Amino acid sequence: MTHAYIGIGSNQDNPALQIKKAVNALKAIPNTQYMICSSLYRTPPYGGVEQDDFINAVALLSTELKPLALLDELQGIEQQQGRQRTVRWGPRRIDLDILLFGEHYINNERLTIPHPGLTQRSFVLFPLVEIAPSLVLPNGELLTSLLTTCENNLTRLPTTVA
Ligand code: ATP
Ligand code: CA
Ligand code: CA
Repeated sequence: MTHAYIGIGSNQDNPALQIKKAVNALKAIPNTQYMICSSLYRTPPYGGVEQDDFINAVALLSTELKPLALLDELQGIEQQQGRQRTVRWGPRRIDLDILLFGEHYINNERLTIPHPGLTQRSFVLFPLVEIAPSLVLPNGELLTSLLTTCENNLTRLPTTVA
């Protein structure tokens, strides 16, 4: 079993509900155990496209799947929830990224792991630290050491996804 951290984001069509649906779908991925999900965080949009705020969270799975099989499952969930592929970093109903897959480094045309945005994006780092405060990255760096250089522009919401 490998620990996989999944970044979840939405800014369309009731984002909190989209994230709840996605978390329920994560619980049903075969050969995989759903472990925990962070709080929901409201975050300003990323990447310069004018759009609504995002709701973000990070979930932990323990899986027997290979990384590409897990990506297939996540993309299936995005499709099920009616995600349209439009502009990169534009509005979307649901986005599921593999942030970390154990201590693996992966670089092929479908997957880059650790996720390249992981170290700079506060909407990934803060929810990740919430559920894995002592996490060490594959390069030996302590996750919390990244927070010192990262702006906290998130609002933690009282709602939970359980
Ligand atoms: P970003 O990756 O910067 O957060 P994005 O999530 O908006 O941008 P998408 O349009 O959702 O990008 O995905 C584009 C492609 O990224 C996917 O088809 C997938 O093959 C690829 N990809 C590469 N690495 C990963 C990863 N770690 N997790 C999920 N998808 C990945
Ligand atoms: Ca993303
Ligand atoms: Ca994505």
